[in-house]
Amino acid sequence: MSAARFDRRNRAGGALQYSSGVYTGMPQASPAEIDRRWAICQACELFDGSICTHKSCGCNVSNEQKFLNKLAWAEQKCPAGKW
Ligand code: SF4
Repeated sequence: MSAARFDRRNRAGGALQYSSGVYTGMPQASPAEIDRRWAICQACELFDGSICTHKSCGCNVSNEQKFLNKLAWAEQKCPAGKW
Protein backbone atom coordinates (compact mmCIF):
# COMPACT_ATOMS: atom_id res chain seq x y z
CA MET A 1 0.00 0.00 0.00
CA SER A 2 1.34 3.43 -0.89
CA ALA A 3 2.11 5.92 1.84
CA ALA A 4 -0.55 8.30 0.48
CA ARG A 5 -3.22 5.59 0.47
CA PHE A 6 -2.26 4.51 4.00
CA ASP A 7 -2.51 8.14 5.13
CA ARG A 8 -5.98 8.59 3.56
CA ARG A 9 -7.27 5.36 5.15
CA ASN A 10 -5.90 6.33 8.55
CA ARG A 11 -7.36 9.83 8.41
CA ALA A 12 -10.76 8.42 7.43
CA GLY A 13 -10.61 6.08 10.44
CA GLY A 14 -9.74 8.98 12.69
CA ALA A 15 -12.66 11.02 11.37
CA LEU A 16 -15.04 8.14 12.08
CA GLN A 17 -13.78 7.92 15.66
CA TYR A 18 -14.26 11.66 16.19
CA SER A 19 -17.78 11.53 14.80
CA SER A 20 -18.67 8.63 17.13
CA GLY A 21 -17.62 10.89 20.03
CA VAL A 22 -20.01 13.58 18.84
CA TYR A 23 -22.91 11.12 18.87
CA THR A 24 -22.12 9.95 22.40
CA GLY A 25 -22.16 13.48 23.85
CA MET A 26 -18.37 13.86 23.82
CA PRO A 27 -17.54 12.90 27.41
CA GLN A 28 -14.07 14.18 28.25
CA ALA A 29 -11.27 12.19 29.86
CA SER A 30 -9.80 13.64 33.07
CA PRO A 31 -6.36 15.32 32.89
CA ALA A 32 -4.94 12.40 34.91
CA GLU A 33 -6.36 9.88 32.42
CA ILE A 34 -5.00 11.88 29.47
CA ASP A 35 -1.55 11.88 31.12
CA ARG A 36 -1.77 8.10 31.70
CA ARG A 37 -2.70 7.44 28.07
CA TRP A 38 -0.08 9.92 26.83
CA ALA A 39 2.73 8.10 28.64
CA ILE A 40 1.68 4.82 27.01
CA CYS A 41 1.43 6.34 23.52
CA GLN A 42 4.84 7.99 23.81
CA ALA A 43 6.41 4.57 24.35
CA CYS A 44 4.39 2.93 21.54
CA GLU A 45 6.03 1.91 18.27
CA LEU A 46 2.91 3.06 16.39
CA PHE A 47 3.14 6.65 17.61
CA ASP A 48 4.87 8.91 15.07
CA GLY A 49 5.16 11.99 17.30
CA SER A 50 1.68 13.37 16.68
CA ILE A 51 -0.51 10.60 15.20
CA CYS A 52 -1.36 7.01 16.03
CA THR A 53 -0.43 5.08 12.88
CA HIS A 54 -2.37 1.92 13.78
CA LYS A 55 -4.14 0.67 10.62
CA SER A 56 -7.59 1.27 12.15
CA CYS A 57 -6.81 4.62 13.77
CA GLY A 58 -4.95 7.65 12.38
CA CYS A 59 -6.03 9.94 15.20
CA ASN A 60 -4.16 12.91 16.58
CA VAL A 61 -2.56 12.05 19.92
CA SER A 62 -1.30 14.59 22.46
CA ASN A 63 -1.45 15.41 26.16
CA GLU A 64 -3.79 18.36 25.62
CA GLN A 65 -7.52 18.51 26.34
CA LYS A 66 -8.42 19.37 22.76
CA PHE A 67 -11.28 18.31 20.48
CA LEU A 68 -8.96 16.67 17.93
CA ASN A 69 -7.07 14.57 20.45
CA LYS A 70 -7.98 10.91 20.77
CA LEU A 71 -6.67 10.79 24.35
CA ALA A 72 -9.05 13.53 25.52
CA TRP A 73 -12.21 11.54 24.78
CA ALA A 74 -13.33 9.35 27.66
CA GLU A 75 -14.92 6.62 25.53
CA GLN A 76 -11.94 6.20 23.17
CA LYS A 77 -9.85 3.05 23.35
CA CYS A 78 -6.38 2.22 22.11
CA PRO A 79 -6.80 0.12 18.94
CA ALA A 80 -3.91 -2.09 20.11
CA GLY A 81 -5.43 -2.60 23.57
CA LYS A 82 -2.65 -0.76 25.40
CA TRP A 83 -4.98 1.55 27.35
S1 SF4 B 1 -3.44 4.76 20.72
FE1 SF4 B 1 -2.51 2.75 21.19
S2 SF4 B 1 -1.66 2.01 19.23
FE2 SF4 B 1 -2.06 4.20 19.02
S3 SF4 B 1 -0.11 5.19 19.54
FE3 SF4 B 1 -1.34 5.13 21.42
S4 SF4 B 1 -0.71 3.23 22.45
FE4 SF4 B 1 -0.04 3.09 20.31
